Amino acid sequence: MSARPKLDSLRFARAGDELSGEVRLAEFERLADVLLSDAGVVSYRLRGGMAGGRPVIRLEVATVLTLRCQICLEPYRQEMDVAQVFPVARNEAELALWERDDPLLDALVAEPELDVLTLVEDEILLGLPVTPRHEGGCGRVG
Ligand SMILES: [Zn+2]
Repeated sequence: MSARPKLDSLRFARAGDELSGEVRLAEFERLADVLLSDAGVVSYRLRGGMAGGRPVIRLEVATVLTLRCQICLEPYRQEMDVAQVFPVARNEAELALWERDDPLLDALVAEPELDVLTLVEDEILLGLPVTPRHEGGCGRVG
């Protein structure tokens, strides 16, 4: 099976590097609990850069999940297309400084081997609908 991609997060951000790929939904163990089917793939793209004077990693994740509708209890397909920008702090002390200014900041601490798929899976889990349900109403064809 494919090796899990890792990257040096601070170096990646500062260098403005790019990484994109596809991974099967079945690779994500934590997602298995909420998916009715693990068929399908996740496309992801990471780009380094600067924002507000801080090195950042921009993450985009796109996939289609099979979830159970909480109203009619039938499976349905949930499209997901999320984007997030993560400032990358040099260390915990810098992160603490940043969070003092912005308690809701979603930042990473520099890691020499950031596990890309963990970051991707976290983003999918955070993006799940609170109440999964057919968009536009239950019982429609398709
Ligand atoms: Zn429904």
